[in-house]
Amino acid sequence: MIAFSHVHKRYPGGFEALRDVSLVVDSGELVLVTGHSGAGKSTLLKLMAAIELASSGTVIISGQNLAKLKSAAVPFLRRRFGIVFQDHKLLYDRTVFQNVLLPLQIAGFDSRDAARRARAALDKVGLLAKEKALPITLSGGEQQRVCIARAVVHRPAVLLVDEPTGNLDEAYARDIVALFRSFHQVGVTVVIATHDRLVAEQLSARTIHLGQGRIAA
Ligand code: ADP
Repeated sequence: MIAFSHVHKRYPGGFEALRDVSLVVDSGELVLVTGHSGAGKSTLLKLMAAIELASSGTVIISGQNLAKLKSAAVPFLRRRFGIVFQDHKLLYDRTVFQNVLLPLQIAGFDSRDAARRARAALDKVGLLAKEKALPITLSGGEQQRVCIARAVVHRPAVLLVDEPTGNLDEAYARDIVALFRSFHQVGVTVVIATHDRLVAEQLSARTIHLGQGRIAA
């Protein structure tokens, strides 16, 4: 489902964030991407979702070579993904429910169907009772759950998660990781980038370890 072959990623300015990366993530797999800060973990996830393109090598997603994909096809590809990245902030002037609803509104869902799905996603992350709250009134762990609900509300086949436990204390982090495992258990492909040793220990999943942009193990 996701296949990288001899992928290099050079950013403008010349820094090579990924070097000769080859990997396969099968449909339904749970995979961890580990490595120190700056190792290239976020870059790897961005290439998977076509947020960045490879400088050389091939990235194949669901049988499609991303280098040959027309730009008009990218939004359709992205709908296969749910993305939980730290820079995807919540909208603080909208309620929890409105935040989760938004991706469905943008995608043009029927409003009743969208509302039903948004509530189902909030229920899944245990926050239905807070649908009317503003994000600022929630704890860091709860805000992270809203981000997860927003990422899965369109029922993606693949969930890409970057540093999910960044600012959370250990108990919250365990709950969040358990939530990702539950998505994996219902068949979603889950790729989690983390430098948090506890996440790796809790999940005991296949691990791709990056060191200075290369697969080290
Ligand atoms: P990680 O997620 O493992 O911390 P990243 O993939 O974010 O690593 O970054 C890998 C390297 O690429 C870092 O040295 C970072 O500074 C660099 N980098 C990331 N994004 C950009 C960018 N948009 N432009 C230039 N350099 C970047």
